[in-house]
Amino acid sequence: MTAQLIDGNALAKQIRGEVAQRVAALAARGRQPGLAVILVGDDPASQVYVKHKVADCESVGMRSILERYPASLSEADLLARLQALNADPTVHGILVQMPLPKHIHPQRVIETISTAKDVDGYSVQSAGDLVCGLPGFRPCTPYGCMKLIETTGVDLKGKHAVVIGRSNTVGKPMALLLLQANATVTVCHSGTPDLGAHTRQADVVVAAVGRRNVLTAGMVKPGAIVIDVGMNKKDDGKLCGDVDFDGVKEVAGWITPVPGGVGPMTRAMLLVNTLESAERDAT
Ligand code: NAP
Repeated sequence: MTAQLIDGNALAKQIRGEVAQRVAALAARGRQPGLAVILVGDDPASQVYVKHKVADCESVGMRSILERYPASLSEADLLARLQALNADPTVHGILVQMPLPKHIHPQRVIETISTAKDVDGYSVQSAGDLVCGLPGFRPCTPYGCMKLIETTGVDLKGKHAVVIGRSNTVGKPMALLLLQANATVTVCHSGTPDLGAHTRQADVVVAAVGRRNVLTAGMVKPGAIVIDVGMNKKDDGKLCGDVDFDGVKEVAGWITPVPGGVGPMTRAMLLVNTLESAERDAT
């Protein structure tokens, strides 16, 4: 292996340690950050995600409020509950676990969460703040990817970054964060012909597609930073990313593994956003 491994577990642990110290400083002033996590329905993957988010809060001394509702919950009742949480001064972040049952409109739900508590950074206001370079909550996954890239010590100014994928939650905010860091950014998607022609020129590649082996060794510039956001299942049921890890690690300069790369950082950045919301509230 020629690439250096970017260890998301280790970085997330370090960030949780820093968050715990700042939570303790708030506690000394009689404040405790609170994150409300809402789960509607019984999607098995969502149940695991919310369990982790609650455990993460506890590990750093934050309060978590987990509310579970049946899939039959009406949209009106969910929006009413969000309004109540918006008004609750002990709640600094609100997260509604996606996907929601089909009868509930996800964007209406996201837009009901107060911008001041939108710790997922999914609202139109948060997205607009990012576009305009204004302070605001950054979506946790691309925010975590930026922290992973920072650990390489590579200055992105003048570098070419290619983002594969253009979802509102990963690809687009990722491209904007890289742009803010002065990279020259190309965004590729399912309509991009000859993906490799773009990625071979990239100093940084972020793969956020949801398909195995989207990025293979022949598509990577030697020495590049490769960040793998994808979460897929191998034939044996094990988790893997979008990147052909075994091949690409022989060409890249740095690479994130799956699992143990972006996933733990997404969770860590949720804690950071919630903490920052509470710190803002305390000033
Ligand atoms: P998404 O909404 O399905 O978006 C996927 C994107 O990939 C789309 O923009 C799509 O293009 C593009 N795409 C599809 N096939 C392509 C191809 N052959 N070449 C180039 N682009 C292609 O997915 P997402 O929510 O962004 O998530 C992406 C992956 O990251 C998933 O595996 C998800 O599970 C994972 N994820 C991981 C974390 C984590 O914490 N580790 C967090 C979030 C997501 P079009 O727009 O043209 O359709």
